[in-house]
Amino acid sequence: MTIRAYKLQIIPNAEQRKALENYQGAARFAWNFGLSMISKAYKRRKDKANYMTVSKLITKLKKTSRYSWLNEIPSDVVAQKLRDLDRAYQNFFAGRAKYPRFRKKSPSWSIRFNFDNRHSGKVKSWANGEMVLPGIGKVKLSQELAKQMPKLITISKDGTGRYFASYAVEQDIKPMALAGSMVGIDMGIKSLATLSNGQVVENPRFLRHMLKLLRVRQKSLSRKQKGSNRWKKQVRRVAKTHAKVRNSRRDYLHKATTAIVESQDVIVVESLRVANMVKNRRLSRAINDASMSEFISMLEYKSGWYGKMFVKVDTWFPSSKTCGACGHKLDELDLSARSWECPKCKTAHDRDLNAAKNILAEGLRVARGTREPNMDVKNRVDFLALAAALSGSETGEAEARIVREPISPYGTGLRDA
Ligand SMILES: [Zn+2]
Repeated sequence: MTIRAYKLQIIPNAEQRKALENYQGAARFAWNFGLSMISKAYKRRKDKANYMTVSKLITKLKKTSRYSWLNEIPSDVVAQKLRDLDRAYQNFFAGRAKYPRFRKKSPSWSIRFNFDNRHSGKVKSWANGEMVLPGIGKVKLSQELAKQMPKLITISKDGTGRYFASYAVEQDIKPMALAGSMVGIDMGIKSLATLSNGQVVENPRFLRHMLKLLRVRQKSLSRKQKGSNRWKKQVRRVAKTHAKVRNSRRDYLHKATTAIVESQDVIVVESLRVANMVKNRRLSRAINDASMSEFISMLEYKSGWYGKMFVKVDTWFPSSKTCGACGHKLDELDLSARSWECPKCKTAHDRDLNAAKNILAEGLRVARGTREPNMDVKNRVDFLALAAALSGSETGEAEARIVREPISPYGTGLRDA
């Protein structure tokens, strides 16, 4: 068993952000209050006052009218902060750390919540992939949760205003043996992803059907009188369809990304142009964008789990316009052109396959350190072992063909050309 730590971005709504700010304010109060109590005792009598003393005092404070607001804060948020303080003192007494300091108001902070296995509601929602925080409710997540529910969750905010949830669980994941293969991946709209070995991850068909259904239901909602019973019923129906789209989509992406991570040792992707993505208002495009970023994020963390190498190449790398055979770079390639012929070496290219191959080659250059790394390279050490094992075959799948066929919606999401 290994302990695996997770950190994911969460997107709390305005109300939740407000509550979280209140909680962290209370946690900071508890820390500073405890610190001043313990400091006094320590300075006067060299007393090693502890967590219990402070905890009891805070319980008393809650009964006074001045500090009654503390009752609105989940007690574990305060208790956990006092435990942090206790640990800081223990570290100080043991000579491992400096004397704890008072906390000033700051844009970045962290608080912790207990997650109790005896709380069946919480266990159930976690099993459904939802994170429900005490007093906050269900928070929107940027990626899915680990299967097991942790005992503690740290919610933090960074200086740029982003919120994160971190937790650790024991898991039995072993790094996989080398598969002897590497792949570059071109993300797209027509096909979700084209792999340099010729495999294609299609945009699932069932999603198109569901989107149609969703549109029908939304239209029907807009025709109903707002606030009426029929309207309320339809709101629930639309929400359910939304959830179904999301779950099926995620399920599909999981299968596809697991298949890739299992069969490849090095996975190279292009980082996405987020600015372009935000502009797309159409539902189908919005979903495609969400799928792309989720697909990449899944590949990234699964690569980490299984000890595979994950490389992101720069957004502006001209992967589509460069001939993978001779390196000739076109000035322009029309967005609608699905295939083209290199004017220099006359090689016929499938647009996406050529791009995927170029992404792989670029990723390997990056990984070998021959280019300024403007990008993320994970598991570099594993790559060194791999490069030795695979010496020579950089893009050994030159013969790969692309055959575009719909794939089974509940298949692996990945098929051979
Ligand atoms: Zn060429």
